[in-house]
Amino acid sequence: MTVFDTPLRSGHFIAGRYIDGEGAIEVGSPSTGAALGAIACADADVVDRAVQAARAALVSSGWAGRAPRERVRAMHAWADLIDAEAATIARLEAVCSSRPQAEARVGDVVTSAEQIRFFAEFADKEAGTLVPTSDAAFGFIDDAPYGVIGAITPWNFPLNMAAWKLGAALAAGNAVVIKPSEMTPWTTLYVAELSVRVGIPEGLINVVMGDGPVTGAAITGHPGIDKVSFTGSTRAGAAIMENIARTGIKPMTLELGGKSPMVVFADCDLDHTADCIARGILPNAGQFCVAGSRVIVQDSIAEALADRLKDRFARVVPTDTLADTPGFSPIISDKQLRRIDGIVQAAVGQGGELLCGGGAFDRAGAFYKPTLIAGVTETSPAVTEEIFGPVATFQTFATEDEAMQLAGHPTYGLCAGLFTRDVGRALRLTRRLEAGTVWVNRYGRTRDHILPTGGWKASGLGKDLGREAYHGNRRTKSVLIDL
Ligand code: NAD
Repeated sequence: MTVFDTPLRSGHFIAGRYIDGEGAIEVGSPSTGAALGAIACADADVVDRAVQAARAALVSSGWAGRAPRERVRAMHAWADLIDAEAATIARLEAVCSSRPQAEARVGDVVTSAEQIRFFAEFADKEAGTLVPTSDAAFGFIDDAPYGVIGAITPWNFPLNMAAWKLGAALAAGNAVVIKPSEMTPWTTLYVAELSVRVGIPEGLINVVMGDGPVTGAAITGHPGIDKVSFTGSTRAGAAIMENIARTGIKPMTLELGGKSPMVVFADCDLDHTADCIARGILPNAGQFCVAGSRVIVQDSIAEALADRLKDRFARVVPTDTLADTPGFSPIISDKQLRRIDGIVQAAVGQGGELLCGGGAFDRAGAFYKPTLIAGVTETSPAVTEEIFGPVATFQTFATEDEAMQLAGHPTYGLCAGLFTRDVGRALRLTRRLEAGTVWVNRYGRTRDHILPTGGWKASGLGKDLGREAYHGNRRTKSVLIDL
C-alpha cells in the first residue's frame, strides 16, 4: 500500500537496502480502524544479518575512527534532509500512529532533526580526560564507542524515540540495529533510508521489522550486540533484563513507564496551572511516558481547579491523524482503549467519582474522552497503574507531608510536577520527590535537549538526551603508563 506517494514497506532495511519480508504482523490505523498492510517479523537469522551488516559497516567505513567533524557534517546533512522531507515523514508517522500529521510536521520532525544535530555536536567536543597521578606515571581515561547498539523503540512518538537513539549512537561512533514498534514501523525505516542518501555509510543504521518476543528478543540476546538501548514498558524492560542475563551480560539503557504526579498548592497561579495540567495529560491522548496522570491538589482549591480542568478537557476535538489540522489523538488500538476503559470503570465501581469523561467518543476510530476521576484510593489501579490514556486521577491533601505521601509511587519514578509560588517550598519538595525529572510551574519538555531524561526506580536505567546519553553510547578505558 502507498500513503500518498510513499510506499508502506513490509520488509527490513539492512546494509543500505530494502530487504523483502513476508507480511506477518498487521498494522492498522487508530484513527479509522482501517487495515494498512502487514510487516515482516524478523527471526534470529534476519537479526543476525543486520548485526553482521552493522559490524561490517563499522570496519569498512571507519566511522568511529574518522575525524569526528566528518561525523558531525554527515549527521547535520541527515538532519537537514529530514527537515526537508518533513511533510512525507509526518504523513508516514500519522498513517499508523496516534500522532496528528499537522503536529508531527512542525513538532516531532523538527525536534527529531534538532536532536540529531544536538548529538552530532558532541562528536568533536567531548573526549577522555587526563587524571592526576604521581610524576612517575601518566594516567588518562580514554573512551570509545561500544560498536553495535541494539535499539528497540515504542509506538508513542515513534520518530522521536528513534531520533534520540540513532542520534546519540551515531554521534558517539557506533552502528545500530533498530527495531521500531510493530505498530508504527514506517518513519524509522524512512529516516534510515535518508541517512544513506546523504552519505552516512550503508549498514550503519539497520532497521528490522518485527515484534518483541521474536525480533526484540533476537536483538537483546545476540552476542554481536554490544549494548541494548530500550524504550518501552516496564514489563518489557524486565523481560529484556532477563533475556540479557540468560544470553550473556551486556550493558543496557532502559527508558520505561511512569505514573507521574502533578502536585498543586493553593498559592499557585490557578489558570496557568490548569493549562499546564491539560498539557501534561491531553497531548497524544495521554500516551506519553511522562504524562502527569495523578493530579494531587490542596483541598482549599480543589473545586476551583476541577472546574478549570473540566473546561479544558471538554474542549478537545478528536481528529483523524491524517487531517490537515492538529487535534485530539486516537488511542493506538481498540484493545488499548478497552484496557483504559476497564481501569476507569473499575475505579468507578470501587466508589470513584467521574468528574468528566469516562468512555469512548461516539465516532469511528479509537478515541477516548479526557477523563478525571476523584474519590480514588491510593491502592486503586487507576492510581497505581500506568494507564497510557487521557485519564487523570484527582486526589486532595491538606499538608505538605500529605502531598508528598500521595506523590510517592511504590515503583515508578519518572517525572513530577510542582505548582506553587513559594520558591522555598518548590526547592524543598523538588529534593523530596523521587523522580528523574521535576518540573516546577510547568509540565513537559520543550526543546531543552541538554537535560537528560530517564527514570528512577522501575522507570528506568540510564539516560536518553543530554550529555549523559552521548556518553552512554561510549565506554571508558583507564590507562596508566609508567614513565
Ligand atoms: P512495549 O514495552 O509494549 O513495546 C516497546 C518495544 O519493545 C516495542 O518495539 C516492542 O515490540 C518491544 N518489545 C516488547 N517486548 C519485548 C521483549 N520481550 N524483548 C524485546 N523487545 C520487546 O511498550 P509500548 O506499548 O510500545 O510503549 C509504551 C510504553 O513505553 C509505556 O510504558 C511508556 O511509558 C514507555 N515509554 C517510556 C519512555 C521513557 O522515556 N521513559 C518514552 C516513551 C515510552
